[in-house]
Amino acid sequence: MVTVRGRASQTQSGEIATGLRTLALGHRILHREHHADMTLGHLSWRDPFGRGIWLKRAQIGLDEVTETDFMLLDFDGAVIDGEGELHLEWPIHTELMKHRPEIHAVAHTHPKHATLFSCTESVLRPLTNEGVWFDIPPGRFVATSDLIDTVALGAGHAEAMGEADAVFLRNHGVSFVGRSIQELCLVGIFLEKACRAQLTLAQSGLSFAWPSCGEVRRKKANIYTPNAIANFWDYYVRKVTDKPEARP
Ligand SMILES: [Zn+2]
Repeated sequence: MVTVRGRASQTQSGEIATGLRTLALGHRILHREHHADMTLGHLSWRDPFGRGIWLKRAQIGLDEVTETDFMLLDFDGAVIDGEGELHLEWPIHTELMKHRPEIHAVAHTHPKHATLFSCTESVLRPLTNEGVWFDIPPGRFVATSDLIDTVALGAGHAEAMGEADAVFLRNHGVSFVGRSIQELCLVGIFLEKACRAQLTLAQSGLSFAWPSCGEVRRKKANIYTPNAIANFWDYYVRKVTDKPEARP
């Protein structure tokens, strides 16, 4: 259990250290997979001891994050552990974790295609394999396009997500969730790819179609098995750690 304030204390629990290493990798993977936007964007992980959330500190890019760059906040935003400047949008994370007890990881980023899609009135359709993840289509948070920097805005944003795994923040970006850090990163990658596919098709002027709800649910279960999720995660880890020798 971590009790001492300061960066060194984050490594005192093996479970915390492993989780924060995975969370740091998640930041670097999403940076590489088109979620980069200067020092903006942040991921969090639910503390396994129930104390709150581990959130990336502000002022560094997704690609610069290491396991020492996290702060532990309680669910009211008070810093319990870690050093650095807090992202102003911490209520996105605390409120989603409160609304969705099954969720263990949350992200908010500004990927190009998903952010452009946030500006439209269109529903995200399951056009490609990535799109079938979103069998519950992401809604839109429209109360503001400004920072979500109050608990009230964070709660409204969590309501806009509902039971989906993502929500568009109109004219701003996206937020998405995972039952694990690994799943969170894949959801972020799938979301950006699905938005790019739909924007590209819309731009083509061609008419297009998508599978039925039943087929989407079956396809999602067939493609995205727990083994596949682990395998896709390992693939992205090899890409950011440059370790092709780790191939299965
Ligand atoms: Zn933002």
